[in-house]
Amino acid sequence: MSFRADLHCHSTCSDGSMSPVELVDHAVEVGLKGLSITDHDAIEAFFLAKDRAEEQGLFLLPGVEFSSSLGGISVHILGYAFDPWDPMLAAFCKKHQRIREKRNQEILDLLKKYHGVEISKEELLGVSFSGVKQSSKSIGRPHIAQILVNKGVAKSIADAFNRFIGDNRPCFVRGERFSVAETIDCIHRAGGKAVIAHPHFIKRRRVEKELLSFNFDGVEAYYARLHPSQEKKWVEIGRERKWLLTGGSDFHGSVKPFIFLGSSWVCEKTFFTLYEHYQGHYAGATT
Ligand code: AMP
Ligand code: FE
Ligand code: FE
Ligand code: ZN
Repeated sequence: MSFRADLHCHSTCSDGSMSPVELVDHAVEVGLKGLSITDHDAIEAFFLAKDRAEEQGLFLLPGVEFSSSLGGISVHILGYAFDPWDPMLAAFCKKHQRIREKRNQEILDLLKKYHGVEISKEELLGVSFSGVKQSSKSIGRPHIAQILVNKGVAKSIADAFNRFIGDNRPCFVRGERFSVAETIDCIHRAGGKAVIAHPHFIKRRRVEKELLSFNFDGVEAYYARLHPSQEKKWVEIGRERKWLLTGGSDFHGSVKPFIFLGSSWVCEKTFFTLYEHYQGHYAGATT
């Protein structure tokens, strides 16, 4: 198989069911040559997976998926090829995680108030999607959904979202978000590239138009199991702007069992544009 790299997946550091090391092994198993683990608001997976990737001969690119807000709408922004040791980026992730803690508690309060479901902080910290303990830095709604399944309150994670905690459902809390500009700025200051995640799902034309006015470096034109006809619009927009056209599966393991690692990917040229940019941070340091 030709060179393929999946640039979008989640580990136990956020809401994926596989540990970073397991993800590396799985990537090799499905024939991928490159990978970026893009946890929600957390970058630890890179450090946990890099030795295994090196052993396995898999190219591992630092990645992250930040939640941000634009006109009250949640927008996900991917960051790639940044300096993973950048202290400002680490601080930004920490701030996100504090915001998440507060929001999670508000969601738990609503579940108790409206449905009499009691979930403790300890339960949330100890949740596991597949027997592997989550080392989650970014705990979010999927973790709460899993507990609702464990308690028999919901039939599946999807059911928990549909009935309780999905967007605009009774126990939904939006939470505080950073702006798109702040997020891009943080990625750029850490030497990285900022990419619009899964733009195909933006429903409001006004938000789409506004998003395109920011200084992104790329767009995730190829996504999960979308048909090329659904991707075409974003391939064209990205090409017009001379942006990077990135792609990935958004694999979450058992949390989203219908999505396979490698279902979307980028070619060798795109991957190494990013990978060489990442390596470039350190060229000066060794000479
Ligand atoms: P949060 O970042 O805490 O708001 O959680 C958002 C994450 O929940 C998304 O990135 C998805 O991984 C997951 N998610 C959203 N909607 C659903 C759904 N209907 N079923 C399963 N997972 C979902
Ligand atoms: Fe997720
Ligand atoms: Fe996303
Ligand atoms: Zn994702």
